[in-house]
Amino acid sequence: MDKQLLLLISLQELDIMRKEKKKEEEVGFEFDDLKQLEEARARIVSELKDHINRKYTRLTNRYGNAVVPIVNNICQGCYLVLPTQMISVEEKNETVVTCPNCGRILYWAD
Ligand SMILES: [Zn+2]
Repeated sequence: MDKQLLLLISLQELDIMRKEKKKEEEVGFEFDDLKQLEEARARIVSELKDHINRKYTRLTNRYGNAVVPIVNNICQGCYLVLPTQMISVEEKNETVVTCPNCGRILYWAD
């Protein structure tokens, strides 16, 4: 799998964890690992290309989730059936592709 794509998937998982931990902190729990999450996040971001990081941030702000899987050729963000010729089999997950409809970053889950 493409390194940038792998980083993006990890980044999104981290962000979901951060959000949950922050919510818990708001109701009075404190977490030491929130700091560790922030550090891990900073490491991932430092390896991401700038334009990809910007795209990720923009999509997350807009939709809440920037990276979505393709299942049965359907974008799981907007449920568009993707054109089969959009990408060749060999290129699956080897490059960062975005949905032509919603613009989310796509990966093949199988
Ligand atoms: Zn889409």
